[in-house]
Amino acid sequence: MTGGVLDIEGVTKNFGRLTAVDDVSLSIRENEFFALLGPSGCGKTTLLRMLAGFEMPSGGKILLDGADVSRVPPNRRPVNLMFQSYALFPHMSVRANIAYGLEMERRPSAEIRSRVDEMLATTQLAALADRKPDQLSGGQKQRVALARALVKRPRVLLLDEPLGALDKKLRGEMQIELKRLQDEVGITFIVVTHDQEEALVMADRMAVLRDGRLLQCDTPHEVYERPADAFVAGFIGVMNFCAGSAVAEGVRASDGSLVAGTLPQGIAAGAPALAAVRPERIVLFPAAGAANRTSGTVEALAYHGLDLQVHVRTPLADKPFLVRMTADAADSRSIRTGDTVEIGWSAADTRIFKS
Ligand code: ATP
Repeated sequence: MTGGVLDIEGVTKNFGRLTAVDDVSLSIRENEFFALLGPSGCGKTTLLRMLAGFEMPSGGKILLDGADVSRVPPNRRPVNLMFQSYALFPHMSVRANIAYGLEMERRPSAEIRSRVDEMLATTQLAALADRKPDQLSGGQKQRVALARALVKRPRVLLLDEPLGALDKKLRGEMQIELKRLQDEVGITFIVVTHDQEEALVMADRMAVLRDGRLLQCDTPHEVYERPADAFVAGFIGVMNFCAGSAVAEGVRASDGSLVAGTLPQGIAAGAPALAAVRPERIVLFPAAGAANRTSGTVEALAYHGLDLQVHVRTPLADKPFLVRMTADAADSRSIRTGDTVEIGWSAADTRIFKS
């Protein structure tokens, strides 16, 4: 699986007896916005540090444009790493911070000036060029760190939790901004994040890691719609699960009722299995023909502005089902805690996993 800008081939990293990254293979394409995603401790930062050259793999290879760089030191790789803390020089102006890397490369001053001006414009920092970092907001500091990394025109920019230091609202704005910037500069970005929503919004493709192993690598849409296993299904977005055993028509729940769905290959009838359905695919008061329907009791209502999340206790599962509906639809039905309701969904919306 070679041919990308960056090919990661069977890379493993051991720290003593701990395997932080376990035989991971990925091919990252030219001009791709790629996200490495997973819970804390899954090995995503270790993998990023190996790509940057700060850690050597214990096994496997890292190829950049087809050449093995596994043992090439960081400063000799055309790869830049942007730290979460930004690591700006506090005594230098924005302009000097951005110019620093080019000065270290002893570029002619006219070239430095024009490249820094171009970067100031791209990151919308021209008006702030003479300020010091402590005179900037969090979002502005983040843009300076990006400009400083991008001005060197790396083949690949690695970003470790780039929006981690920003508040929720600003994060949302910067997700869009980062994607626009990547598009404009045409450089491959690899972003480490533990925030699944951030990966869904920004990434062209994403890799989900757990305990050092790669579980799935695909577009956000595929990962969300066709998760590789129950862990990915629960980690990306919200999923309702119902435990039982596999049968030809779906999953037989512990109360004996059938959750209709298509059994994937590799799960034999009789094997323990999990049926899963997204909250937005469930309807309250389903039409008569719904393949899956059950009645339950409204245990809680959570109003989120745009939507209302209804927690419905049913005999199908230990945990209440989460159902998402628009607040208007909920108003029109005047749903209250304690009500008995029907929920339903189509067989095509059931996902079935090994348990
Ligand atoms: P987080 O989101 O919390 O940063 P992560 O997915 O980035 O987590 P890593 O930082 O890559 O995870 O760590 C993976 C595992 O390797 C963890 O168990 C961690 O404790 C361990 N680890 C990381 N660096 C070292 C090191 N230098 N020495 C020993 N163990 C390490």
